[in-house]
Amino acid sequence: MKILIVEDETSIAEVVSAYAKREGYDTITASDGMSALEIFEREDISLVILDLMLPKLSGEEVCRRIREKSQVPIIMLTAKTSESDVVYGLDSGANDYVPKPFSPRVLMARIRAQLRPAASRDNIAAGFCADGRIEIDPERVEIRKDGKSIPVTKSEFLIFSTLASKPIRTWSRDEIIRSALGDDYDGFDRTIDTYVKNLRKKLAEPGHENGWIKTVYGFGYRFDDEK
Ligand code: CA
Repeated sequence: MKILIVEDETSIAEVVSAYAKREGYDTITASDGMSALEIFEREDISLVILDLMLPKLSGEEVCRRIREKSQVPIIMLTAKTSESDVVYGLDSGANDYVPKPFSPRVLMARIRAQLRPAASRDNIAAGFCADGRIEIDPERVEIRKDGKSIPVTKSEFLIFSTLASKPIRTWSRDEIIRSALGDDYDGFDRTIDTYVKNLRKKLAEPGHENGWIKTVYGFGYRFDDEK
């Protein structure tokens, strides 16, 4: 598996690359946003490590452009670490966010978590929900609405499937993190809100503006199967 490291600081790129190689991955490095996109087009990339402050094209923009055509896991590695930076980063389609200065071992664990063959999808039952209109397909890690594939990230898939698995149950954010994303996830509780927001954007339609995910104020979310 090949990892694309997008980083303009050579020393950081070298450290990440050395650790990744030790884990058995191939690596390729881009030192600006434009060449990152070129390499991504050309190579078969399994995961992207993305710095945000880059020459030529910002990391957020690189992330957005990759997302237009691919669901490859993207881990942002960045010194921009305010809560709004994290939310903005995840909003642009990143799967995870690692603040600088970072521990290379933690970064490697995050990479493994993203590339682990469908962490909890074995616990997810294939089937239909929402009156048979939405199909959950754990084999392909895919959600289809009215037979049409909805492009979702792995985390979004796991969160939606978890909520849909128990339509009556209300889940706290923390429960969603533990059940859907696993113990190794240590992002903020509130990043769940970002995932839910993205899912709603992708699934919403007139009459189902919430994308079948109901907010339970002061507690969390539940799958909204009401007619
Ligand atoms: Ca930089």
